[in-house]
Amino acid sequence: MQKEKLQQHQVPIIEKEIAVFEHNHGHINNIIFKDGSGYPISAIYAPGPFEQHCKIPEALGCELTEEGYIKIDGFQETTVKGVFAVGDNAAKMRTVANAVAMGTSAGIAISKRMILEGF
Ligand SMILES: Cc1cc2nc3c(=O)[nH]c(=O)nc-3n(C[C@H](O)[C@H](O)[C@H](O)COP(=O)(O)OP(=O)(O)OC[C@H]3O[C@@H](n4cnc5c(N)ncnc54)[C@H](O)[C@@H]3O)c2cc1C
Repeated sequence: MQKEKLQQHQVPIIEKEIAVFEHNHGHINNIIFKDGSGYPISAIYAPGPFEQHCKIPEALGCELTEEGYIKIDGFQETTVKGVFAVGDNAAKMRTVANAVAMGTSAGIAISKRMILEGF
């Protein structure tokens, strides 16, 4: 299905093992395959692996998902009670709007918890 769509739009599909990317001062210009052939390119679109900026969540004992995001519940609380996570560290939908929305949820949950604790 995806292959057909690409072919309809004249996007070539090359299924060969890559040996090396050739570049000129960081500007990509060629893929060289293991069979020795090459293909000129000017850009690469690829999902890079995700990792946390720092080890603080793990040091606190927060569990991570298989993909490396901080595990959270519906109220942004991590697997460590009282520790909340919002934004890119806990969400695949990496946008400012999503980070703000998650922060709002966390703020409400934390505020509610503090009110109940003091009541
Ligand atoms: C190139 C690019 C373009 C983007 N364009 C858009 C766009 O057009 N629209 C959109 O909605 N989103 C865009 N995004 C995504 C958006 O920037 C993020 O989703 C959003 O900033 C997430 O907010 P955040 O608070 O979770 O993380 P961040 O904004 O990354 O803030 C995390 C902060 O924590 C700090 N930090 C990390 N480790 C430590 C530490 N150990 N101690 C102290 N501080 C620490 C970092 O320095 C950083 O300031 C873009 C992202 C990139 C990379």
